[in-house]
Amino acid sequence: MDDLLQGLNEAQQQAVTSTEGYIRVIAGAGSGKTKALTHRYGFIVNALGIEPSNMLCVTFTNKAAHEMRRRVKQLIGGERDTGFITTYHGFCVRVLREDIHRLFYPKNFVILDVEDQKTILREIFEDLGLKLNDKIFKRLLDKIGMLKGNTHYVQQMVQRGEMPAEEAGDDLDGRIIQMYLKKQKRVFGLDFDDLINFTFVLFSQYSEVLEKWQDRLFYIQVDEFQDSNAKQFELVRMLAEKHGNLFVVGDPDQTIYEWRGADPKYIVDFQEYFPSAETVYLNRNYRSTPEILSVGNSLIKHNYFRVDKEMVTDNAGGLKVIHYHGKDEQEEAAWVVDKIKELIDKKQASYNSIAILYRANYLSRFIEQTLIKESIEYTIFGGFKFFDRMEVKDALAHLRMVAFEDDLSFSRIINVPKRQIGKKRMQFLRERAEAEDLSLYDALKKYADHPRLHRTGAQSFIEAIESLKVKRKTLNISELLQEALQQTGYEAYIREDGDQDRLDNLTELLHSIVQYEQTLGEDIELEEYLQMLTLYTEHDREAQAETVKMMTIHTAKGLEFPYVFFIGMTEGIIPNVRTLRERKERGLEEERRLAYVAMTRAEKELYLTESEGFQSGGLQKYPSRFIFEIEEAAYQRIGLLDEELIKEAKRYIQAYAHPDQASVNGFHKGSRVRHPVFGEGKIESVDEKKNTYLIFFDKLKAPRPISRNFKNLEFMDD
Ligand code: ATP
Ligand code: MG
Repeated sequence: MDDLLQGLNEAQQQAVTSTEGYIRVIAGAGSGKTKALTHRYGFIVNALGIEPSNMLCVTFTNKAAHEMRRRVKQLIGGERDTGFITTYHGFCVRVLREDIHRLFYPKNFVILDVEDQKTILREIFEDLGLKLNDKIFKRLLDKIGMLKGNTHYVQQMVQRGEMPAEEAGDDLDGRIIQMYLKKQKRVFGLDFDDLINFTFVLFSQYSEVLEKWQDRLFYIQVDEFQDSNAKQFELVRMLAEKHGNLFVVGDPDQTIYEWRGADPKYIVDFQEYFPSAETVYLNRNYRSTPEILSVGNSLIKHNYFRVDKEMVTDNAGGLKVIHYHGKDEQEEAAWVVDKIKELIDKKQASYNSIAILYRANYLSRFIEQTLIKESIEYTIFGGFKFFDRMEVKDALAHLRMVAFEDDLSFSRIINVPKRQIGKKRMQFLRERAEAEDLSLYDALKKYADHPRLHRTGAQSFIEAIESLKVKRKTLNISELLQEALQQTGYEAYIREDGDQDRLDNLTELLHSIVQYEQTLGEDIELEEYLQMLTLYTEHDREAQAETVKMMTIHTAKGLEFPYVFFIGMTEGIIPNVRTLRERKERGLEEERRLAYVAMTRAEKELYLTESEGFQSGGLQKYPSRFIFEIEEAAYQRIGLLDEELIKEAKRYIQAYAHPDQASVNGFHKGSRVRHPVFGEGKIESVDEKKNTYLIFFDKLKAPRPISRNFKNLEFMDD
């Protein structure tokens, strides 16, 4: 039991030994919250003799749950059942497997992931003779998600597999959603929202079910509580009601899921929900050097909606945090990779101790290529490697077709976009090719006029490929790819699909080829380029344990790494474009928290990097405002960032997203806003002196002055 307390500071020990009642731990990044929570679990088992099956421990991701189980097992012995160390969804699945029969669903219901949802919707669209593209799919998913934002529908769905008509809407979307729910019911499928909602309904309507679970779970712990949403909070509250043992830990400054309904108020106002609650504060940081800590602190201070908490550390001083500015992406990548090599060669750092973090998945590409060139192994978490993404593979298959006419590339793209060459016609082609020892493409050419291939896109496909084969003599590879994507209709197909990520990836691929041409001279051979790529991808396959880790900031939540490179710190990337467009202080604060989460992952050394050039939308790149917000003395700048560019960047930042620096919510004259009581209105003028907005509300006859510090004014798109 003592060893569970050993090595913990006093506040942590207090958290561990306060096993009864409502307790919250509020503390900054790296202060040992998760460690305290893990040890508390061990303490309750070892020192109080409670069975792990009587404790619920909620973490945020499966990865985190896995890691926590591993740690807990070291403390309590490996053979105990730690199945209740899980995520909210994982817990709901446990409950439903036991009790869903009360809602007349079988225990072996299926869980629907996004792909399954798409399959169901696609079937419906086919039945209706309509075409489902990605844009429509996302819109419908959003609408379904919105309907499932409350739990009214569960009852009706349970009985008839329907939504209340007034909620689903009686337009086409509404009807499709009704059909979707019916199908969902027919296969007894539950999507992620349903898992939570069904459990919620079970608990609220069947008191004996709730009581059973309450009885079973004497102790409840939740990590990363700042990212819980209303229903998750409600679930935990219900479960804890009987025994009153609820322990939550979190850091409001690390709320990064507001866009999905997370609300830090549950941890900030914990005491209002549970008046008897006690709070433990941890203020000693064990993770990072003082240099890294002060950079994090000096950034997060710029958030208005927060409670200040200063962190200290006894950790030994280290290197200053570095901001590197490159003239372009290659320079940024080259610098990062050089630095990584230096860490490995000179400081004996292991690959595993190095992480590269970024705001969005597509940003991995320019670093990936340089890592590959330098033979540095890497693993991408929570996403595909760039060259493994569907659209990138498809696009390259077009080039391969032109160069090699190989069967693999042919099969990949012949029916994408749809050319009515499905399974049966492919079978026919295969048989012909086999019998006559032809490639599939040659078979297609030979039999294009065959009745079996009538009314297909065979002819136009052949024309496109043949014309590309001629054009390749005069075009360089990037031009050839552009031409190929246009002539075969692939680009239009992706465009129609409406998935911006995919379009971004295609643009990124073109961009990478252009760069390749620039470095190697324009007349490199297509075959040569493709072979090099094959090497990249082959070489990628072997998963290595000792690798540099790459992931988005969202994936890095709760984790730590000795060396962190936070790349792509550019306006429009972080804060991202959408936030800039919306001009909402709230959104900007969430972006700032994201940057804070990224920086606070670092233990020994932190590198912030960005570069000049243009973004895919043609926007000029400027260093992120978050770099300028850090106290200048707290970091060191490397690279040629000239004063003029800094000035320009600052002007851009002011003009673009901070129309009104002095105000809290940053609205300007002409903004449409929503007030909780007066409703919608338009800002007539801004009175600096009185610190008010003069607002004409649609419902009121005369304008009202509203304080610029009033937090509940919402920006609306004009
Ligand atoms: P985050 O907010 O990022 O999730 P956290 O508050 O959960 O951070 P932990 O991950 O629990 O922090 O701890 C950070 C690091 O500090 C870990 O490596 C942990 O082992 C170490 N640590 C925590 N408490 C102590 C302590 N009392 N003495 C020494 N090291 C500690
Ligand atoms: Mg943690």
